[in-house]
Amino acid sequence: MKKARKVLYTLILILCCINLSLAQEKISDLLRSNTIQLKEVESYMKSNNIAPLSCEEDHEHGSDVGNLRKGQAFGPSLKPIHAIYVFNVYFHILNDNNGYREVPITEDDILEAVSILNKSFNSFNIFFKYKGFGSINNTWRSVVYLGGNRTFNQLVEYTKGINKYRSDSFNIFIASSIRRSQYDQTRIAGVANKPGINSVIDDEYLLTSTLPHEIGHNFNLFHTHHNWNKNNCELVRYNDFVEDTPPSVAYSAEDLSGGCSSELNEVRNKCGIEIRRVPSSNFMSSNVMPCRSLDNALFTEGQGKRMKLSIQQEISPLYMSIQNSVESLYEPYQGNYDKVVIDESDESENHNGNFKFQKGFDYEFVDCDDINEVEESFTKDETPNIHPPYTAIKILQISKDKAFKCHIPVENEEERERTVINFGTIISNNYTVYKIKYESSKEKEFYKKIPVGYNLIKSKNKEGQMVQKMIYKSQ
Ligand SMILES: [Zn+2]
Repeated sequence: MKKARKVLYTLILILCCINLSLAQEKISDLLRSNTIQLKEVESYMKSNNIAPLSCEEDHEHGSDVGNLRKGQAFGPSLKPIHAIYVFNVYFHILNDNNGYREVPITEDDILEAVSILNKSFNSFNIFFKYKGFGSINNTWRSVVYLGGNRTFNQLVEYTKGINKYRSDSFNIFIASSIRRSQYDQTRIAGVANKPGINSVIDDEYLLTSTLPHEIGHNFNLFHTHHNWNKNNCELVRYNDFVEDTPPSVAYSAEDLSGGCSSELNEVRNKCGIEIRRVPSSNFMSSNVMPCRSLDNALFTEGQGKRMKLSIQQEISPLYMSIQNSVESLYEPYQGNYDKVVIDESDESENHNGNFKFQKGFDYEFVDCDDINEVEESFTKDETPNIHPPYTAIKILQISKDKAFKCHIPVENEEERERTVINFGTIISNNYTVYKIKYESSKEKEFYKKIPVGYNLIKSKNKEGQMVQKMIYKSQ
């Protein structure tokens, strides 16, 4: 009887373990079969109680006391604290040799990723400009290992070797999986150079809080529990070298009492510091759902300050080469201004140049002359697909007062049409409306075509405003 019970318990235990790994595996199955979308991964984890994978940072600084001063503070900055930083971002999709990958990635997914980065970093005046994506078809490279062969840094070097690396952008690699080593196949959600401009992310985690987390490492942020386990009490006290993140430890969902209250079940003590709470909704804390999700995760002001000082003091020599202008954010990532056709005879929106602007911002398309007059607006989750002629663009996250890039369509030489209202020789309620075709370069030809008498001519001037003029044509 006793033995039977033991067998039963063992069986239940095994089933539980299988269940847990099944849940992990299931996400990729669901993504493969298109049952869930990448942006639904977090909510799927939440509702199915799946613990997300952890992350590894690839340190260059700050791992010992000698680097303490460097990590702690960077001194006053000469650059204005309100400076706006725009960084290019480029994505590498890692595929099998034949171009196949189990979890499909679309451009929409990648634009969603750029939008997530902007939403997470914009409050610190750090912006991201989408520069596109490319594929690397190499089965051997599509899985990244922390140790041994096929490491992340080797992948970066390989990408440089085949001329696919982008030295003008953050390089974000999307891998089919990241594992500790050939011998320890434990999966990891992401790895980032710290500081640096390269990171790799497990494809399932592309649209989760892991993405801003990795870029946080790129901007020189540590985990909030970074120094917790160090023997040196000075390091333990400095923690992650950020003033407003409380001393923390690594933890799992079971360690938290009452969901995301951030309170620990068990008080930890080290170097005389009592840890009762952890910043469970911080992007740089342990990944525990639903506490660290895109819905509620954030960086603190102190982390924002550390990131900006790291950029200003060029903690990574590469930050400079991947910056772009503020104006670049006002350029569509798709579309052609030369293809815009203005047709005065048609009031419908047939003047589209196939524009697409990256989402993640609040846009207003305003009158070029009166920038308080809004003609079209789009919210953060919408992709603006027009740039109405004679409007300029406001991105409210950058400035509520400044509008850039007034769109004045190029006049083309095609045949066009003006509305002419002819009254004859006396201006009265009797009139006839004509639509008269003309070529913009041949104004004289137009006047030859209009009827005798008083004519009210309606046309658009170069600024796009409707203007009317009355002319009298004699016999
Ligand atoms: Zn990390």
